[in-house]
Amino acid sequence: MSQPLIPPRGQHVDLRGYDPAFTGNLAKEQARQLLPALCERLNELQDTLYADRRFAVLVVLQGIDTAGKDGTIKNVFRDVGPLGCSVANFGVPTEEELAHDFLWRYHRETPARGKFVVFNRSHYEAVLVERVKSLVPEATWQARYDQINAFERLLVDEGVVVMKFFLHISREEQRERLQERIDNPKKHWKFRQGDLEERRNWDRYQQAFAEMLSRCNPAHAPWHIVPADHKWYRDLVVARALVDRIEALGLRYPGPFEHLAGIRVV
Ligand code: ADP
Repeated sequence: MSQPLIPPRGQHVDLRGYDPAFTGNLAKEQARQLLPALCERLNELQDTLYADRRFAVLVVLQGIDTAGKDGTIKNVFRDVGPLGCSVANFGVPTEEELAHDFLWRYHRETPARGKFVVFNRSHYEAVLVERVKSLVPEATWQARYDQINAFERLLVDEGVVVMKFFLHISREEQRERLQERIDNPKKHWKFRQGDLEERRNWDRYQQAFAEMLSRCNPAHAPWHIVPADHKWYRDLVVARALVDRIEALGLRYPGPFEHLAGIRVV
């Protein structure tokens, strides 16, 4: 049994064809053993990325409430030090942000060459929550797919590796995770009344996700549909995709620096 991680280009994505509980016949124990080496490798790659200075890495995480964006960040980037990696969280836009074009607040958080930045929610909210809750007119969000594609094209042309992950969970899994937030006192702080209201929009979100995955999936900045019902599989998929992609960049340390040969530090 297999299912594509990157949806085929030029076809409408039907999320019903992607099993959120998929684990590729991998056992939880196996995954637990594989993850640490990938996390360490990611840290090494970030070091080399910084020395090399040609590229930056932008990781985009999207998913419905409780899909596991925070957990993915904690687990996958646990070995990457704060020198080279930061997280940008995007909540309800401020008055100042609303006074600008919709991409403004995202563009200013994109990574400098040599750095990793993780977008915890992203510019895609402009075609997700803003569409689902009718925060902007349809003509506005319809135009945004092309605008987002142009924005990502610019980033890629300027050396930013854009890695987009859609954390795909089932409706039942969301129910269990929300219930856990209500039942477990240590998780009460995570629960907001609005979560239940948002859950009623489940189908509209799935439709908006499918459209985002279909219309903003160019080869240079593809989406990865990550089966995310099992957290251990989700983390492994994200870590492996990042390592594979960054390794393929052929990063190198600058040099040789001939003028250093023979110098003695006294
Ligand atoms: P999270 O749910 O990601 O852990 P928060 O609890 O801070 O983080 O929630 C962020 C909230 O901001 C979400 O309810 C999300 O729908 C909202 N949000 C994000 N981007 C936008 C946007 N562009 N317009 C309106 N609301 C947004």
